[in-house]
Amino acid sequence: SIHFQKRIIMKIGLFGGTFSPPHNGHVRFARLFIERAELDKLYIMPAGVPPHKETDPWGSAGARLDMARLAFGSFADVSDYEICASGKSYTYKTLAYLQKKHPCDELFLLVGEDMFLSFDTWKKPEAIFSAATVVCMRRGDAGEAVLKEAGADYKQRYGAHVIYLDEEPFPVSSTQIRSLCAAGEDISHLVPTEVAKYITENGLYKYE
Ligand code: ATP
Repeated sequence: SIHFQKRIIMKIGLFGGTFSPPHNGHVRFARLFIERAELDKLYIMPAGVPPHKETDPWGSAGARLDMARLAFGSFADVSDYEICASGKSYTYKTLAYLQKKHPCDELFLLVGEDMFLSFDTWKKPEAIFSAATVVCMRRGDAGEAVLKEAGADYKQRYGAHVIYLDEEPFPVSSTQIRSLCAAGEDISHLVPTEVAKYITENGLYKYE
């Protein structure tokens, strides 16, 4: 007799960023993402050459990867795929890579509101929206109405699936942490303990 194996669809998440350095906002949202989207696996993806930013003169790719492992390694898979790939990091390419790795599974992409509102400047937004459900988290600057409107627009133009994480914003940025470091101020309340230690030991972000 033919035996049909039941296919179990896994939920796979992607959270990319510069992570220079990773901070408590990132960690908090990564955990919420796993919980809310009921993920089976979360990939944390430090960007190679971030397409949205100037190359970061303070954090080498290796240091950013180390710090991402310290911040997320206990509950997520920190991937060096984008850092090892040559050329710019593009999310549509990374999603294609994950689709190959997980051909039968469902993909979710986590982005902060600033990234969410800038989708039209990303390379191949249609490929991103057809590959993954986008999960948007608030940072507290854009109003809810603006975010909902953008989501409706992406749905209409790209058939996007969007989920909003309704959580209190946690207003912290890597930029703010780099400035505090340059000023010699304490950052221990804003980053995981191991990350603070790594920054001190490696003398990162001393100059702005
Ligand atoms: P920078 O200050 O250097 O621009 P950042 O703090 O925005 O850095 P990134 O590594 O660029 O950090 O962010 C990665 C992802 O995390 C982006 O999608 C960004 O929108 C999101 N993000 C970062 N900080 C927060 C926060 N406090 N709340 C919600 N989303 C955040």
